[in-house]
Amino acid sequence: SNTLHIVGGGMAGSEAAWQAAQAGVDVVIHEMRPRVGTFAHQTGNLAEMVCSNSFRSDDSEQNAVGLLHWEMRAANGLIMSAADAHRLPAGGALAVDRNPFSETVTERLKAHPRVSVSYEEIDSLPDEGQWIIATGPLTSSALGAAIQAETGAEALAFFDAIAPIVYAESIDMSKAWMQSRYDKGETEEERTAYLNCPMDREQYEAFIDALLAADKTEFHEGETAGYFDGCLPIEVMAERGRETLRHGPMKPVGLTNPHQPEVKAHAIVQLRRDNKLGTLFNIVGFQTKMKYGAQTDVLRMIPGLEQARFARLGGIHRNTFLNSPTLLDTQMRLKSKPNIRFAGQITGVEGYVESAAMGLLAGRMAAAEIQGRALTAPPGTTATGALVTHITGGAEARTFQPMNVNFGLFPPVEGLRGGRRGRKDRYKAYTDRAKDDWTAWLAAAEGMAEGMAGTL
Ligand code: FAD
Repeated sequence: SNTLHIVGGGMAGSEAAWQAAQAGVDVVIHEMRPRVGTFAHQTGNLAEMVCSNSFRSDDSEQNAVGLLHWEMRAANGLIMSAADAHRLPAGGALAVDRNPFSETVTERLKAHPRVSVSYEEIDSLPDEGQWIIATGPLTSSALGAAIQAETGAEALAFFDAIAPIVYAESIDMSKAWMQSRYDKGETEEERTAYLNCPMDREQYEAFIDALLAADKTEFHEGETAGYFDGCLPIEVMAERGRETLRHGPMKPVGLTNPHQPEVKAHAIVQLRRDNKLGTLFNIVGFQTKMKYGAQTDVLRMIPGLEQARFARLGGIHRNTFLNSPTLLDTQMRLKSKPNIRFAGQITGVEGYVESAAMGLLAGRMAAAEIQGRALTAPPGTTATGALVTHITGGAEARTFQPMNVNFGLFPPVEGLRGGRRGRKDRYKAYTDRAKDDWTAWLAAAEGMAEGMAGTL
């Protein structure tokens, strides 16, 4: 049949349904709420915002998430149009009146002649038909088990343990240096995968004090601490003993500081390249529940990171997500079952806006496939394209953790000056390029769809 089935009517599923229906495809949304709940959702509405009511920055010239807003608006996104309709005053951020927002999304989808909603939990991966799975970070356990059976236990995570990610250009290389532990690595790529930041005893002790004193987030109800083995937050390690970190992620062995070859470091913080572009580095083993403000203060105590800017801060959450770089093709299809696409947070993006954007793309791709045309992914120079490129291959699969949109995912624009002023110019250059490329991609996609309609 030519019907598209979407499992999960959240941010991604709702947008996917809208896009496919607007393209002329019949859609059934299968949503388990209100029959089966999650620990975070409160209502039976589609596209419920589970926590904050913010879509973050709306600045499409200087901010990557603002650019994503712009791209979704240009593509007639339902999530953006409902958010704009229920916008609350919040300076440069797009804050949303959450209940009217999700009611509007629900009503507009239900009113669409091509959309129907079936309130049921789906607990297996269908063998036939076109499907999009967009069940989010709180995917029901039965479906989670079915996905795990298909993909293998290692390829589906139930928690994220996110180490902070730093923009490479903001690391002070007069203090840090590039070296893998014991100079391991066969290729140039492997040997340039690590940066190191040294600490003397005094710096280490001050760092531990700050870590112990920092404000931390409590776990949500329904989150268990059972996943702790192997990914303890650094502050919990520090609580277990002042030397624990020095024997764990901060061990000063197998590394020589070329800036001070005669001095033995007391502790060393390692950063690992986080994307193929080499623009982002994560701090190895530094998953943390420190609050964001405290986190930047504490992390900037690390020598070399005094001026660090963060593409994302660390966290630990209940989060079901795939190892997309190994499992999904560039059409967001499961390689082993190509009648199934994934979209939203379960693909390893992070955030309401990013999830909706991946729904937008998956909905359009599925509709195109049903209608017998091919829709290639948008170029990696656009925000949507940068995200999908990251999750379907740009990210390091071995250490894959959920990602929010940021300029570190974009191919660099060459020939621009450094420094703060330079950064503003660079971000503007990124967003100008993205808008041109997104507009051209949309026009090509829509031209193709019209061409098809003409032949039918
Ligand atoms: P969801 O919006 O969660 O939608 C998934 C839908 O699938 C749900 O409606 C669910 O009921 C349904 N479903 C699940 N399993 C099944 C099944 N087997 N059959 C049928 N239906 C099913 N992001 C932010 O930007 N800001 C925040 O403040 C924020 N806070 C968060 C707080 C928590 C506690 C969590 C868990 C996540 C938070 N996120 C936040 C992250 C994330 O961006 C949101 O969860 C976002 O809603 C993800 O969109 P989605 O469409 O992928 O999933």
